[in-house]
Amino acid sequence: MAAILVYSEQADTALELVGAARGLAPQLGLTVSAAVLGAEAAGTAAAAAALAAHGAAPVYVCTEPALEGLDTAVVTQALAHIVEQAGASVVLLGSTRRGRELGGRLAQRLGAGCVTDAISLTVEDGLLVAGRYNLGGATVQRETIATPVQVVAVMPKIFEAGEPGGAGAGEAVVAVSAELAAPAVKVVDRRPKEGQAVDLAAAARIVGVGRGLAKRDDLPLTEALAAALGAELACTKSLADFGWMADDRIVGLSGAKTAPDMYLAVGISGQVQHTVGIAQARIIAVVNQDKDAPMFALADYGVVGDLYKLVPALVERLKTL
Ligand SMILES: Cc1cc2nc3c(=O)[nH]c(=O)nc-3n(C[C@H](O)[C@H](O)[C@H](O)COP(=O)(O)OP(=O)(O)OC[C@H]3O[C@@H](n4cnc5c(N)ncnc54)[C@H](O)[C@@H]3O)c2cc1C
Repeated sequence: MAAILVYSEQADTALELVGAARGLAPQLGLTVSAAVLGAEAAGTAAAAAALAAHGAAPVYVCTEPALEGLDTAVVTQALAHIVEQAGASVVLLGSTRRGRELGGRLAQRLGAGCVTDAISLTVEDGLLVAGRYNLGGATVQRETIATPVQVVAVMPKIFEAGEPGGAGAGEAVVAVSAELAAPAVKVVDRRPKEGQAVDLAAAARIVGVGRGLAKRDDLPLTEALAAALGAELACTKSLADFGWMADDRIVGLSGAKTAPDMYLAVGISGQVQHTVGIAQARIIAVVNQDKDAPMFALADYGVVGDLYKLVPALVERLKTL
C-alpha cells in the first residue's frame, strides 16, 4: 500500500504532521510512515521512537555522516531515497524555513508538484486539497497536485500531534543507508542568536506592537509600556520582517500562539494571521487611531487615538499606581 511520508527537522512539527496524516490516510487509502534524518544515532532514536508511538509505521531512520548539520541539499537526497523505498505518494513536510526550501528541492528531484505554507489539508473526491493564504492573507486558495507524488509543506502548529497510538503504533524502525553527496556548504561556526530568547507562549502579560510604530527608534516607547505593565514585548510579523524585532517575538500564524491574562495591541490592525496567536488571551486591549481597525472587534477595552500620545500618557499613569 502506498504511504504518506512525514518529515520535519523540528520534532514537534513532525509529530503534528503525523497527527494530520493519521486523519487523512484512511480517506486516501494510504498508510502513514515517517523519516528521521541526522548524523547522530542517539538523537534520531528518540525522535523515531516518538513518531512510532504516535502511529507512524515504519519510521525510516537515516544516520549517514553527510547529514551532519542537515544541509538541505543532502536532506533532499536522503528523503528522495526514502520516498522511493516507502512507496510514498504524499510527502508532508513542515513549512519551516528549511522545510520550504526542502519542499521545492525535493519536488524538483521527484518530478512532483509542491505546495508550501499550507494551512489546511482536506480530502475531497479522493484528492488531497491544500489550503494556503493568497493575496496577502485576504483569501484562502485551495490547491490540488496532479503529479503521482505530491509534496506539501504545512505550517507548524496547524495540526495537533494527538495522542500516542494509531494503526501501527510502536512498529518497526527501518535503518536506511544511502549514498549521499557531501554538502557543498561548509559550516565554519555556529553561534547562538543575539539578544534574549523569549517564551511568549508562557507570558502572563504581553504588549504587542505593529506598524503603527513609525520607526525602529520609537521602540523604547513601547518597551517602557511593557516594563510598566510587567509584560513581554511582542510584535506583528511586519516588524520582524523589517528586522526591528526578533522572529521569536512574532505572535500569530508564523509565530507564537499565546494565552496571556492580558494582551495589549498597540498600532496593530488585527489581521487574522496575527489574531490566531491571541485567541486564548483572557483580556484584549487595543490602542489604534483607526476606529474601524478589525482589532477592536476582538477587544475587551479599546482606545481610539495616536499611540505617540497615548502610550507615554499610559506609562506615566501606570507609574503612579
Ligand atoms: C502566510 C502569512 C502568515 C502570516 N503570519 C503572520 C503572523 O504570524 N503574525 C502577524 O502578525 N502577521 C502575520 N502575517 C501578516 C499579516 O497578514 C498582516 O500583514 C500583519 O499582521 C499586519 O501587521 P500590522 O498590524 O503591524 O500592520 P498594519 O496592518 O499595517 O496595521 C497597522 C495599524 O496601525 C494603526 N496605526 C498607524 N499609526 C498609528 C498611530 N500613530 N497610533 C495608533 N495606531 C496607528 C493603523 O490604523 C493600523 O490599524 C502573515 C501573512 C501571511 C500571508
